[in-house]
Amino acid sequence: MTQSADKPVDMKDIVALCKRRGFIFQASDIYGGYNGFWDFGPLGTELKNNLRDSWWKNMVVTPPIGPDGTPVSIVGLDSAIIQNPRVWQASGHVGGFNDPMVDCRESKARYRADHLLVYTNDGDIWPAFYNVEDAADIPRRLKKLKQNEDISTYKIVSFDQISADDYAKIIGPDTKTAGTLTEPRQFSMMLDTFPGVIRDEERKAYLRPETAQGIFTNYKNIIDSMRVKPPFGIAQIGKAFRNEVTPRNFIFRSREFEQMEMEWFCPPEDHAMWFEFWVDQRKKWWESVGMDANKIFLHDIEKSELAHYSARTIDIEYKYPFSDPNFDELEGIAHRGDYDLSKHQEHSGQKLEYFDQQENRRYLPHVIEPAAGLTRGVLALICEAYTIDENRPSGVYLNFHPSMAPKKAAILPLTAKEDHVPIATKLYLDLREEFSVDLDIKQNIGKRYARQDEIGTPYCFTIDNDTISDQTVTVRERNTMAQERIHMDKIAEFLREKMKAV
Ligand code: ATP
Repeated sequence: MTQSADKPVDMKDIVALCKRRGFIFQASDIYGGYNGFWDFGPLGTELKNNLRDSWWKNMVVTPPIGPDGTPVSIVGLDSAIIQNPRVWQASGHVGGFNDPMVDCRESKARYRADHLLVYTNDGDIWPAFYNVEDAADIPRRLKKLKQNEDISTYKIVSFDQISADDYAKIIGPDTKTAGTLTEPRQFSMMLDTFPGVIRDEERKAYLRPETAQGIFTNYKNIIDSMRVKPPFGIAQIGKAFRNEVTPRNFIFRSREFEQMEMEWFCPPEDHAMWFEFWVDQRKKWWESVGMDANKIFLHDIEKSELAHYSARTIDIEYKYPFSDPNFDELEGIAHRGDYDLSKHQEHSGQKLEYFDQQENRRYLPHVIEPAAGLTRGVLALICEAYTIDENRPSGVYLNFHPSMAPKKAAILPLTAKEDHVPIATKLYLDLREEFSVDLDIKQNIGKRYARQDEIGTPYCFTIDNDTISDQTVTVRERNTMAQERIHMDKIAEFLREKMKAV
């Protein structure tokens, strides 16, 4: 078998498969879509729920054992998307949650200044590009401009680092003339709304741009109502909204997405120990859901690049097909100090200090925050699973870990002959009590395998004439296409074993 697992993957093929097989659709597709918004189809929803449930189990239901050998304690929360606007003033989001935006006067395209990359040199033609894939086109663009220079002599600098005096040299990604890009302007990423009947500035509220603040505002309620004390965590999964300047790369950067965030409250002096612990735990979790450790990179964010509230941040980055050979963010783990609690204490006038009776001291806990994207996680799982294999009819299969696969197994009667179908139906009815399984009767067996390969079903059980005499079925393993016989009574146990995280 010549399996070309290393062949570069084209994002367009991934997007097409996601639509063709019911994973992800453009939002409002019949109206031509809506920039920055996506709908999860039946299989995408299953996949997303599997990833979400694994995170929740790992964080809240069966959290790990801490570095000192005691089980850690994390409680769950589901806070409102729209909160009192004062929350966002206290957190610094109103007025401060901005992206620098650059416009092209000619093409009317819009870019995020820090994501717009410019090839600079001593000359006076500097081509800019936005996506890594477009960078490949730069030598051709330069040639057209009769600039036959060697691209390797250029230095890549992001637009926000370039002096305004040099803007005239820059040719934007979507134009052929230099000097059409505007100076960056700050652009608020907060999406607003007006609850109630009166729509004026004073009544403006916001769709939350992160789930974290709902946790900080409930910190006191949880301390008062639950028997928790630092160190402990509060976890939340839910929607967040950001008015991204340029939503792009499929669901990687969208305007509506889901986050999985946990705020870990600990005594200030223990922050370094817990930071290390959570970075390690989070990396292990991504690996447990099937991410290749070789495509994961821990990016220790340089001091100069840290958010103002963070003393240290490590981003867990993944090598997406569109970032390859580079990596891009999947999750950020930040030491936020006592920034959020002290801001909310100041703005709400409520005491948020924790009183430790044993030690007879009062303090604001420090916070370690593992903040992961659920939507982005789904994209990473799909990219990781997407495997080109020219030797099989589908040409591709999704190599999901069985615990993540939307369908755990397919039951396929070899023929639509009468005696195969009732046995298959009985097996299907038994298994569906515990697992998400498919019963597929129509079409030839090759086509049915192809469909299951494309949706990443790890096992197909085929009922044939031998099943009638000895109650065994053929189990076909998705990745290797290897087949073996297994007794029908053993199938449920077989699947249970395979579902266990790696
Ligand atoms: P980025 O640098 O990519 O804009 P960020 O550092 O602003 O992300 P955080 O505020 O740390 O992101 O949010 C935590 C996680 O939420 C990110 O690691 C990412 O997985 C996810 N996320 C953030 N913005 C988006 C978005 N626009 N679309 C999809 N997921 C997002």
